[in-house]
Amino acid sequence: MESVLKRYFGFTEFRPYQKEVIEKIIEKRDCLVVMATGSGKSLCYQVPPLVTGKTAVVVSPLISLMQDQVMSLKQRGIKAEFLGSAQTDSTVQSKAETGQFQLLFITPEKAMIIPTSFWSKLLNSGICLFAVDEAHCISEWGHDFRVEYKQLDKLRNCLPDVPFVSLTATATEKVRIDIINSLKMKDPYIAIGSFDRTNLYYGVKQINRGQLFMDELLQEISKFVVSGGSTIVYCTTIKDVEQSTDEMALHRYGMGYVLEIFKALQEVGIKAGTYHGQMGSKAREESHRLFIRDELHVMVATIAFGMGIDKPDIRHVIHYGCPKSIESYYQESGRCGRDGIASVCWLYYARSDFAKADFYCGEAQTEKQRRAIMESLMAAQRYCSLTTCRRKFLLNHFGEIFPADKCGNCDNCLVSKRERDMSRESFLLMACIKSCGGHWGLNLPVDVLRGSRAKKIVDAQFDKLPLHGLGKDYSSNWWKDLAYQLISHGYLVEIVKDIYRTVSVSQKGEQYLCSARPDDQPPLVLPLTDAMID
Ligand code: ADP
Ligand code: ZN
Repeated sequence: MESVLKRYFGFTEFRPYQKEVIEKIIEKRDCLVVMATGSGKSLCYQVPPLVTGKTAVVVSPLISLMQDQVMSLKQRGIKAEFLGSAQTDSTVQSKAETGQFQLLFITPEKAMIIPTSFWSKLLNSGICLFAVDEAHCISEWGHDFRVEYKQLDKLRNCLPDVPFVSLTATATEKVRIDIINSLKMKDPYIAIGSFDRTNLYYGVKQINRGQLFMDELLQEISKFVVSGGSTIVYCTTIKDVEQSTDEMALHRYGMGYVLEIFKALQEVGIKAGTYHGQMGSKAREESHRLFIRDELHVMVATIAFGMGIDKPDIRHVIHYGCPKSIESYYQESGRCGRDGIASVCWLYYARSDFAKADFYCGEAQTEKQRRAIMESLMAAQRYCSLTTCRRKFLLNHFGEIFPADKCGNCDNCLVSKRERDMSRESFLLMACIKSCGGHWGLNLPVDVLRGSRAKKIVDAQFDKLPLHGLGKDYSSNWWKDLAYQLISHGYLVEIVKDIYRTVSVSQKGEQYLCSARPDDQPPLVLPLTDAMID
């Protein structure tokens, strides 16, 4: 193993987990590899064929991703090729059958439609592993669900005794379990590396879209262009809307922003390119190529600019708009600083982003999918509104415990915010949510506190509650920001019931309310958010 590592890859040592995984694969054990982007997952399936002399089959979702890998493997003197559905030339297939490749990449579609005789011939020639790269695509709980991935388990019958190896950079426990079940993995060896990207700084800022913000954004980007290294600006968008031709919708979501920011950058002389679903594939490839070659300093893109971007010196990933999930945020922001050098991830969101749930849910076909989309959005929104350490929150989302309370490399850890005792207000808000029954979203209880006499409120007689109107001194956003803080501290819980987001008082919150007077509890000192200062 060590000599293969040295001879083909020029490395002297394995990174954490690589050796263990490779050993297990050679012992024919199924493996699940969950490690951060850039940690060296590919090596886990690249080494076994070179050690055993048998072919490794790797399922990968994107042709471009496979092409890159095949090219770099060939440069190292490794026999590699890929098979996609669009290929009509049958030489790759017949060469593969006779075991002439050390690594064979294949799209999930092709893997499903290729005749079973292909697999039996290949099996005769020798297969050392069947890898499923970007395995989170299997799970409806993941952020990139693909139907074809879900059917890959059928290949188990064609490939008895071949170890299945699934690899992903983003997997919550739910997704991990889904991957194991979907692929019918037997007692898999599970390698979970740390997700912490210590060289990345995380920051979030609430903005109002408009010229003022655009100027600020340009300044921020210019700073990075001057110091070298590339920037990606992600304009979050909705698939449906991106494909629509409705000018207004395009302008409001994603695509419109791409063009707006692109134009602004060009006007100040920054070399920028665009990448989005409405560009032809030629134009997209060209844009990608120029970016990789540093002929463009900034790529303004929708999330279509995705998997397979392996540029080590991206210094700056900006999200313009609240992302659709923590998983996708972590993966997109994770494209910066792959070389380990300090890099920055900024997220700018407007409050109106939070109202986009319906658009995202338009993609859902089943109730389960819809719920998954809503829960993902809620988590992303919580990240935006967070006043505690962002790294701790992100790692915690992936089931990793960050030992300290502060990481020292995120906006919340570095910039101290003004704080004050909010015990009274917290008490009021929790009491109001409880009095209204705990099965509404945030809007209703906040409106009750602010003294609204809307029909819904009067009908339910919430205007008769003693709390009605007690919170009219603060804005609706003020109360909502407080609610988000109480959620992140565990006093309130937000869940999806049927198809609605509901907020209720947790057990911890109940205890707080149970004390006769708020003063009996230690004071709830919380930082002031932007909406609270205005
Ligand atoms: P991932 O698939 O986990 O995102 P890659 O497999 O693309 O990561 O590896 C990231 C980088 O780390 C690559 O440039 C790779 O060559 C390098 N790398 C992998 N394993 C080692 C190792 N044992 N020693 C040094 N560099 C390594
Ligand atoms: Zn921090």
